[in-house]
Amino acid sequence: MNSVSWWKKSLRIIQPNMQVRDTDRIDPERLARQLKEMHANTVVFNVGGIYAWYPSAVPFHHINEYLPNDRDLLEEMISAFHKEGLRFVARYDFSKADDYVYQKQPQWFVRDSQGEPEIIGAKRPGNWSLLMSTCINTGYRNEEVAVPALKESLSKYDIDGVFFNNPGTITCQCGSCRDKYRTLFGKEMPEHRSEYERSWWSVCMRHNIELLNDTIKGIRSDIPVLGYYNLFNERLEDRKAGTDLLCTEPQNVLSQGHHNIPEFWKPALSIKLGRSRAEEAAPLGIVHSCPGMDWRHTGLPPAEYAFWLAQIPAYGGQIWHSLTGVPDTIRDKRILKTVTEHNRKEALIASEMHGAKSLAGVALLWRSGKSTEGWADGLVNRQVPFDIIPEESVDLETLNRYRAVIVPEHYPVEGDVLSCWKKYTEQGGKLIVEGRLSGGDREQVAELLGIQSRVTNSERLTASYLRFEGNDNPLQRGMEDTELIPHRGHVVYCKPAVGSQVLATLVPPFSPLESVGAPPERASMSVEQTDIPLAIYHDKGNGSVLYVPFSLSELIDECKLGEHYQLLNNIVDMAAGRERLMKVTPITGLQATLYQSGEALLLHFVNGTGRRPLANSVPLHDIEVSLPISLISNPESVKGILENGELSFTTNDEELIFTLPRIDVWEMVKVI
Ligand SMILES: [Zn+2]
Repeated sequence: MNSVSWWKKSLRIIQPNMQVRDTDRIDPERLARQLKEMHANTVVFNVGGIYAWYPSAVPFHHINEYLPNDRDLLEEMISAFHKEGLRFVARYDFSKADDYVYQKQPQWFVRDSQGEPEIIGAKRPGNWSLLMSTCINTGYRNEEVAVPALKESLSKYDIDGVFFNNPGTITCQCGSCRDKYRTLFGKEMPEHRSEYERSWWSVCMRHNIELLNDTIKGIRSDIPVLGYYNLFNERLEDRKAGTDLLCTEPQNVLSQGHHNIPEFWKPALSIKLGRSRAEEAAPLGIVHSCPGMDWRHTGLPPAEYAFWLAQIPAYGGQIWHSLTGVPDTIRDKRILKTVTEHNRKEALIASEMHGAKSLAGVALLWRSGKSTEGWADGLVNRQVPFDIIPEESVDLETLNRYRAVIVPEHYPVEGDVLSCWKKYTEQGGKLIVEGRLSGGDREQVAELLGIQSRVTNSERLTASYLRFEGNDNPLQRGMEDTELIPHRGHVVYCKPAVGSQVLATLVPPFSPLESVGAPPERASMSVEQTDIPLAIYHDKGNGSVLYVPFSLSELIDECKLGEHYQLLNNIVDMAAGRERLMKVTPITGLQATLYQSGEALLLHFVNGTGRRPLANSVPLHDIEVSLPISLISNPESVKGILENGELSFTTNDEELIFTLPRIDVWEMVKVI
């Protein structure tokens, strides 16, 4: 098992989260066979930390007391997995330790401002010892337990990779943390975490992960470390340090209740963001099989689960299934069917998708927040292929790869980003800017946006409308039968500069909210029209800028009205034109992505229509797809790899057009 970078090939991971009390139910050879039959090629299994799953000699490394005494279960498992061709990734969790360790080594543990330790699960029934959080800056998670435990297990066992669970910094006011804080920032650690320097947590984590990673590489340089990243973590560089493979955890936590259901695009965006930052291999998307940890002994509704899983490969990621137990102890056997079926499909497309490049004509500048999410929601729901550009990657060369670039509201105008946008438009780029930006020179921002420099931010408007201006207005396409669409939220009151064209204006609130409904006899609009712009367009150099001085993304995020999706679609079409690359029958809930792989084009379609959580998949029929012919000269074949088989197609001077007869869950179409 010694190929240098096995982890750069396609991975399908299953992580059985085994309960220690079920240890005697592990039959290594049977388990290896089962996981292979489920089309996994890599297993993540517990090795060390809270429980050592082997006879560790490292002091205070707590050994799973349910391990058999007469044989080495870990050794047996690893060799059984290897015999079936499965790679073994060792999971460690040094974030907690037993209370007997606390009594002997109290300096290793997290303290609050009162000096009290953090106890996990004190009220858990069933005669368990207490677990307490360990401090990332002390010996337990560094030289005294984590490092020797890694050295011991990696020297003794044929481990292929390492994964750290809960690797983050837990807020802690122990003496070690206070000392470190003083050294780092030259001042005392504040009483409340809200007053900490923002980089504190990620810097501590980086120091810790780097030490652990160096330890691992010192034993065997070819062992990759799999590390978490978080969609909403703003200092990714600190997180990424010391990891080879990025993983993210887009969970479908239905137990939060229907009103708090996770957004449908969570896996999509997590993987997209991961791809924008992963260097050597596609990011891994960890999906738990359960509808929330409180219900971890059951499975997600199968239709919802299959839809959620499909987004991982469709957006260019690799699946990592997290299960509660091994197949023999899993109570909800539907999970096994869904996982097997998903893996079977992912295995079918793995070689085609390996190293495939995203084809997107549109880029969204990323900054975690509602506005970026609203844009992403709209782009996904209008099947616009797009890439995400993280803040640290915004430069002219990157922007120039895209026909259109979207700047969401509140985006920070820092450094030379403004001159970068300017050059981008002068060289032919199409910039779409929304609402209020953060910072930047007022005159220069106004010049870029095609407005006069005096602007005023409005109060939050309600009961207001957007009016389309002029005939043949490209922003009104598909909405010709209405002159108004709903509007609310903040507006940047501005005036167009000379040469700018106003495509939409504000109709101010006709009534305060308390009297919008009654009486209808008084519901007149006293002002039907203003010259306050809600969309301004101007040519700039060889490109253009389309400015929408209101929160379109917030409207999409909050209301999910078809009109706002259509407006977003029209904005993108106006900017990117045919170079948005793919056109698909617009259906809310249908997702589409586009890749280039060698000579072939690969298109994914994921069907999430219907009310979530999906109780059934609602098949979609006769989806028409068109691609610019420039992407593929002389197409020979269009084939649905997963659901449809060979498809007929037509071409003309501009387009390749085909129809997908049916999409149940997930289809990948290959065009060569
Ligand atoms: Zn501490």
